[in-house]
Amino acid sequence: LEERFSQAQKMEAVGRLAGGVAHDFNNLLTIINGYGELLMTQLPAPNPHRDAVVAIREAGERAAGLTGQLLAFSRKAIVAPKVLDFNELVDSIGKMLRRLIGEDITLATFLAPGLWAVKADPGQIEQVILNLAVNARDAMPKGGRLTIETANLTLDDGTRYPELAPGRYVRLSVSDTGVGMTDEVQTQIFEPFFTTKEFGKGTGLGLATVYGVVKTYSGHVSVYSEVGVGTTFSVLLPAVGAARSERPSGGISVAPRGT
Ligand code: ADP
Repeated sequence: LEERFSQAQKMEAVGRLAGGVAHDFNNLLTIINGYGELLMTQLPAPNPHRDAVVAIREAGERAAGLTGQLLAFSRKAIVAPKVLDFNELVDSIGKMLRRLIGEDITLATFLAPGLWAVKADPGQIEQVILNLAVNARDAMPKGGRLTIETANLTLDDGTRYPELAPGRYVRLSVSDTGVGMTDEVQTQIFEPFFTTKEFGKGTGLGLATVYGVVKTYSGHVSVYSEVGVGTTFSVLLPAVGAARSERPSGGISVAPRGT
């Protein structure tokens, strides 16, 4: 418990710092990307400088993605929870997801009929799914399969998830057939700024953000991963109207069996 408390404090401090830098940086990027876009439209395809502008645009977009992640991480306090259908949400970002993962990765979705509703901020949940999808993509450089699944789950007294109060939950899982993670990596992935990606490719804030969001809603995130086989992240959030007893909840568990 103490460990989690210090992680929450660390995330808050880091979030405030990162938010300030990211905000200013983002304003500058808007200028770079805006003029890049303008140049693109004014350079016809045979122009010898077009490749250079394309490269600037791509790097600019990647930088915007990174600052976006920093901003999302630091803004986690401003939320507007709504009653949400996760199936609709996954559907609505399907196009963006496909574009994000590229052509070598297939996307499969298994959306449970009659899925219970969850009260959460749609932007935050989108961010959770996108962060997990980006990681899945990065874990499959040679292609593979990204699976997004939703399910209703009724938890009895502390069997599978002792951290969670008994009651009704909605589970969202994101699985990949990628490189997987060692146990040592798995114990650190939710730490802010922990990354194994090369410089400029990752902030190490994706999963810290996921953890923060899930905790906001008294949910739970767990990971199951095997090196060379793949990884599954499961996010559990309380269903709307679920009868729940007062019990401390939220947190991380690494590699639960039988999820
Ligand atoms: P970032 O993606 O910026 O590195 P994250 O917090 O999202 O930051 O992830 C931290 C680290 O966790 C990654 O650098 C990677 O080593 C590991 N990781 C996360 N998701 C996966 C996955 N699906 N497969 C393999 N490794 C992963």
